Amino acid sequence: MNNPKINIEKLTAFKNPFETPKDWVTPTGKVIKHKPFKKYLRSDIPGIFNAQGINDPYLEDRKIVAQVFPFKINQFTIDQINWKNYLEDPIFKLTFPQPEMLSREEIDGIKQLKESGASRETIAEHISDIRSAKNPAPANQAANRPVFEENDDADISAIDGLQHKYPKIVLMFHKNAQTCHAYCTYCFRFNQFVGKDKFLEDDSVRLHRYLKEHPEVTDLLMTGGDPATMKSDVWRDVLEPLLQPEFDHIKNIRIGTKALTYHPYRFLTEPDADDLISLFKQMKEGGKHIAVMAHFSHWQELNPITLEAARRLREEAGAVIRTQAPLMKGINDSAEVWAKMWQIQVQNGLIPYYMFIARDTGAQEYFEVTLDHALDVYSKARQLMSGLAHTARGPSMSCGPGKVCILGQENVAGEEVFVCKFLQARNPEWCKRVFFAKHDPKATWLDQLVPAFGEKEFFFEQEYNDIVNKKKTYAKELYQVS
Ligand code: SF4
Repeated sequence: MNNPKINIEKLTAFKNPFETPKDWVTPTGKVIKHKPFKKYLRSDIPGIFNAQGINDPYLEDRKIVAQVFPFKINQFTIDQINWKNYLEDPIFKLTFPQPEMLSREEIDGIKQLKESGASRETIAEHISDIRSAKNPAPANQAANRPVFEENDDADISAIDGLQHKYPKIVLMFHKNAQTCHAYCTYCFRFNQFVGKDKFLEDDSVRLHRYLKEHPEVTDLLMTGGDPATMKSDVWRDVLEPLLQPEFDHIKNIRIGTKALTYHPYRFLTEPDADDLISLFKQMKEGGKHIAVMAHFSHWQELNPITLEAARRLREEAGAVIRTQAPLMKGINDSAEVWAKMWQIQVQNGLIPYYMFIARDTGAQEYFEVTLDHALDVYSKARQLMSGLAHTARGPSMSCGPGKVCILGQENVAGEEVFVCKFLQARNPEWCKRVFFAKHDPKATWLDQLVPAFGEKEFFFEQEYNDIVNKKKTYAKELYQVS
């Protein structure tokens, strides 16, 4: 007899019936064995060191730092670390909490609270205060949340899981993409992983409605967390409808991901890897450009499995992989590291795209380098490369008004200046101009720069403030936030 509680139709319509992972065979016949995704969280940190036979002198501090900044790693990523020299290893610094990510006072403050027997709530509140002091939502992200043109339904007029900062690009933060396969120590979205400031979409309904209303949008950027953590049926829900004629204006699907570093098996041996690749191929054949915006911080991440996953994305799915990363002290603040990384990328068909400057959030003070140094690293790395790697733009700051590139340093009319230019801007007209900031050898971010030649403000400041204030007022009404 049929069980009335089970909806057989729904069950059979499920697009990804469970399949076991398969090993992957490369075109040259090499077999890549599937490595199940095994994650480790904060409480596993001592065990990871134990497993390596290491008595880490900074373990207690690391455990404290991991209470403030999220920690997650997986076995594949652990295996990419050179444990013989782990304190200097870039992937270790990229993923494991570093004591200097907090000040001595912050670490000792948390320790003292714990030793004094403070309640969990008190400690959690203290930790939350520390996070809040670290600019957890940089670049006025909340003010990028778009709204529907016609607010015929008050409940859905505010779209908090989308961002529309530049006219041509809409970002989607899907509910199922609110994690990564491992977390970067410098993550600028750290607050999303500790239960705050979530920008979420449950499904694709509001996205599709918004895109229909905005024919000026050409690019959809799937972001997160990491959207590669989503199953392929979720991807289908988002992407397949974009093949309909009403979405002809959507030309480019961008996928912001670090899965090629943290879990390349996602594109090779995971049960739904074939389905995901075939979906991307279907989109490509339907006229959409699939642009994988791959986050690589160091050449050490470009291991054979990662490169094979990249090859599959390019050759089977027809995707173009563009690479980007921030310049971070202790991880990749040398021209040689960038040049070697770009060289391997170019050789393997990946296109260097951006060198970013450490954002003004999280443990920025630990990772930041001066704009002077960033310009130096970028220029020297370019010099070490042929023109094929000169596709990387930078050093660039993703800040509230837009992406500001430091083009160079110059002496103009007797004054030492940084020559700056928008690569993207709230108002695209700003991109036509260069502007000049007083040279400051200590500056690490746009807000530390002052206009050159005695100007009171940069040319875009008034208009930018007006845009933000207008959006904030509107958001205040919709979200009833202060
Ligand atoms: S991959 Fe991106 S979103 Fe994920 S932890 Fe790293 S920086 Fe953050």
